[in-house]
Amino acid sequence: MRPSPSTPSALSRRTMLAGAAALAGATATAAATAAPAQAAVAPAAAADTSARAGRRAKTVVFRNVRPFGAATPTDLVVVDGRISDGPAPHGAKVVDGGGRIALPSLVDAHIHPDKTTWGGSWVSRRPASAIADYVAQDVELFRSQRRPVVERAYGLMSHAVARGTRGMRAHADVAPAYGLAGVEGVAEARERLRHALDVQIVAFPQHGVIRTPGTAALLEKAAREGVIDMIGGIDPIGFDQALDEQLDVVFGIADRHGVGVDIHLHDRGEKGMLAMRGIVERTRALSLAGKVTVSHVFCLPGLTDRELGSIATDLGEQDIALTTVAPSDSLVLPIARLREHGVRVGLGSDGVRDSWSPFGDADMMHRAHILGWVTDVRLDDELNECYRVATHGGADVMGLAHADFRPGAPADFVLVRGECLPQVVVDMPRRDMVVHGGVVVARDGEFLA
Ligand SMILES: [Zn+2]
Repeated sequence: MRPSPSTPSALSRRTMLAGAAALAGATATAAATAAPAQAAVAPAAAADTSARAGRRAKTVVFRNVRPFGAATPTDLVVVDGRISDGPAPHGAKVVDGGGRIALPSLVDAHIHPDKTTWGGSWVSRRPASAIADYVAQDVELFRSQRRPVVERAYGLMSHAVARGTRGMRAHADVAPAYGLAGVEGVAEARERLRHALDVQIVAFPQHGVIRTPGTAALLEKAAREGVIDMIGGIDPIGFDQALDEQLDVVFGIADRHGVGVDIHLHDRGEKGMLAMRGIVERTRALSLAGKVTVSHVFCLPGLTDRELGSIATDLGEQDIALTTVAPSDSLVLPIARLREHGVRVGLGSDGVRDSWSPFGDADMMHRAHILGWVTDVRLDDELNECYRVATHGGADVMGLAHADFRPGAPADFVLVRGECLPQVVVDMPRRDMVVHGGVVVARDGEFLA
């Protein structure tokens, strides 16, 4: 039996989250309050410019490569970390691509590096049926790990680089049980990988903002100390049972400290739609257009087309981005329909080998493959679109320039053996070379430390 991502499993994270707040048949028509579209503001810490500047004042020629699987090989000239259309100067460093396909590097728009056991011993998980059960096992696992967050996060993040990831939005738990150890550990890993990976950090209140006293103060502290780029939230109704209070805390911190917002929303039906309306209203009221993301958003796939069009219009007007991890055919976001309204949608790994799930590999080419699998695609254009979401879609969410080989684009690409992009999405060949800002950061599937 194929390991279908949509196979029901009574105790999986996917089904638990899907069922946690399900309201049978309940949907909502979004408030269609029109407001003038506001200018998009790039999310805070679109880090690719800072990491790229000043360090790579040199030219490298990647010879004999096939961008997007082109039939005829070409040379890619990289100057100061960006693609150039000029001729390569005499004496430039040359790297032979061996006729491999060159593809844009990938962007993981939603991952939890602080929770992972990647690189450590196998962990046997116990049954869990509600978010509170998973949260308790998170804490147990955190305390049982001999390696600190920075080591575990670095292991996973460098592995992701070797699989072709150029950028990631990392959610890290913030709760009294950990203080700021999660965000600080991920921030340290980010620093060690600055040459290879652009990272945004979200302070994620996994234990709830209102139901766990002390969390709001920790979130504020993380923002004040500048260690994070965004403030997170979680199911304001289904888990925190405090819709307005949680959203007021989260958006208040974003407003006071100039950081973005990225909220986990698993609530379905009317609970989810009420939260969405609260998020849209606060984004509009605080002029945070372009700085807000909602992750998972399981309340959207079940809407009628008219209801979806209504909320998508609001999201487009406020430039609110969404992310999905393509958990199943019934919970994956309707990406094409959202794009019609200009809604940015990224793809992510979510948790990788943590207390919630033994699965995950932080390989975004694999995640593009999963997206194609759960959406049952067949056509080349559809497979190409899965890869686009895993690259440019995530870049749009993070405010990174597209790595599309145009002059001036960041020289962030992967070289693989293959025939064409659709075949690569299906076969997921080894990443023979990963280039970040014109620098080879992984080779033959291994990260170059
Ligand atoms: Zn998550």
